[in-house]
Amino acid sequence: MHNIVWFRSDLRVHDNPALDAAMQRGSVVAIYMLAQKQWDHHFVSPAKRSLIVRQVKVLAEQLNKLNVPLTVISCTDYSDYGEILSKQASRVGARCVYFNTEYEVNEKRCAEQVENKLASVSVRANAFHDSCMVQPGKIRTKQGQCYKVYSAFKREFIAQHSLVSRPILNRPKAQSEIDLVTDISVLDEVMVDSKWASFWPAGEDEAHDRLNGFIEEHIKHYDLQRDLPSVEGTSRISPYLAVGALTTTQCMQAALSLTEGRFDSGRNGILVWINELIWREFYRHLLDEYPRLCKFKPFKLDTDRLPWKQDKTLFKAWIDGKTGYPIVDAAMRQLADTGWMHNRLRMITAMFLTKHLFIDWRWGEQHFMERLVDGDLASNNGGWQWSASTGVDAVPYFRIFNPTRQSQRFDPNGDFIRRYVPELAKLDSKSIHQPSAAQAANAGYVLPIVDHATAVAQTKLWFRQLSEPTVDMFSDQELQLA
Ligand SMILES: Cc1cc2nc3c(=O)[nH]c(=O)nc-3n(C[C@H](O)[C@H](O)[C@H](O)COP(=O)(O)OP(=O)(O)OC[C@H]3O[C@@H](n4cnc5c(N)ncnc54)[C@H](O)[C@@H]3O)c2cc1C
Repeated sequence: MHNIVWFRSDLRVHDNPALDAAMQRGSVVAIYMLAQKQWDHHFVSPAKRSLIVRQVKVLAEQLNKLNVPLTVISCTDYSDYGEILSKQASRVGARCVYFNTEYEVNEKRCAEQVENKLASVSVRANAFHDSCMVQPGKIRTKQGQCYKVYSAFKREFIAQHSLVSRPILNRPKAQSEIDLVTDISVLDEVMVDSKWASFWPAGEDEAHDRLNGFIEEHIKHYDLQRDLPSVEGTSRISPYLAVGALTTTQCMQAALSLTEGRFDSGRNGILVWINELIWREFYRHLLDEYPRLCKFKPFKLDTDRLPWKQDKTLFKAWIDGKTGYPIVDAAMRQLADTGWMHNRLRMITAMFLTKHLFIDWRWGEQHFMERLVDGDLASNNGGWQWSASTGVDAVPYFRIFNPTRQSQRFDPNGDFIRRYVPELAKLDSKSIHQPSAAQAANAGYVLPIVDHATAVAQTKLWFRQLSEPTVDMFSDQELQLA
């Protein structure tokens, strides 16, 4: 008899609560479900699919060292999971299936269906919290509400961290050999471009090398370099967090090891990086509390009355990196080429789409998911709704980035633009941010598709016309949206 560990977006053996608990309680086998239709439904990008497939292969090798055989089962979508797991449970004589909780609406429903199906054949489902440092719902205001202001959430997170954060877990000890074998052959069904492997090698070792390299070399300058896209000033660990090769708990521990466990002392670079880890946590807690965020609804419901445009021509120009704003175009081409985009550029491009082109933020959100290797519903939705001023603690609608000024400030020599918009490479570092009509024509570059001042004035007017928001004070249940 062997119990089952069901792997989801937690593809690692270190610091894995479900795996750890299962192996402490007896012999285990592991299952991963390959549901490509579900990936389509969630707009999972080719880059992320490639990373997942390669990460599952590395996971199988690591589990082999623990004598845990992994079986990958191909199926259509989440509706198949309960049936498959109950069949597997009866095949190996399992009394319990262990897994880690995910907070998105469809993932919660999937887990519920699995639990019900397992219960119907007398198999227990044992769920654990792992993808947040603190379990969602544990950080609340004195009135028991979910925090809607980041700075207040952060204060309380720090106050509570040592009391309520989950501990870090080591890799479990190997179990005795069992007479079942690893079978991951169905992974070959997934057609992926080999180029992604060179950008984003898979594996927990790779994830830890990146984290350690960043902690040793770059974190001290993070506050000064994190906004400069031409510099490798950030950790680039987001893809590994997205597939669960690494946890934010491990990242926080690495950062706190430099400050003797304190959130209020140490170099500014370290404290600023910790701040970003807490932003990630904030968005996950909100997603758990407000299911509407998973359902294409804005947090500020009244913003759905804005006359968002559905202009496919403008949208395509943005996607193709042909807006005539060099920094926007360089960023969109970085995304298409590498499956990743620098955070400053995500803000610039998202704000350009929503505040200059006035295109529905949901179009941009979906496009990012379709391209990003680190596509993550909570952070992506949080970032888009922040930029569109429709979200929790979002940028005020009247603070609209001027893309040219952003470019001059954060890519002063135009190095980043030169890398991704080679047709402008010969321009000097002043004109590269805003080529004249003659320079653009000469370089074969497009003219701006929209005038900054006119677009910004129109956007402000539309936002001003909205009446004061009132409904945001209610929960999704009260609004019957859940
Ligand atoms: C429009 C938009 C869309 C985004 N979509 C995603 C997404 O799909 N997946 C994703 O992981 N992040 C997303 N982000 C957040 C952020 O851009 C990325 O996490 C970051 O660029 C990843 O690079 P890094 O690992 O080098 O980050 P670092 O700067 O090294 O930060 C370390 C970690 O902190 C977290 N973090 C950093 N900035 C943010 C932030 N603004 N919000 C939430 N968490 C943050 C990430 O997990 C990141 O890996 C988005 C931001 C915006 C504005």
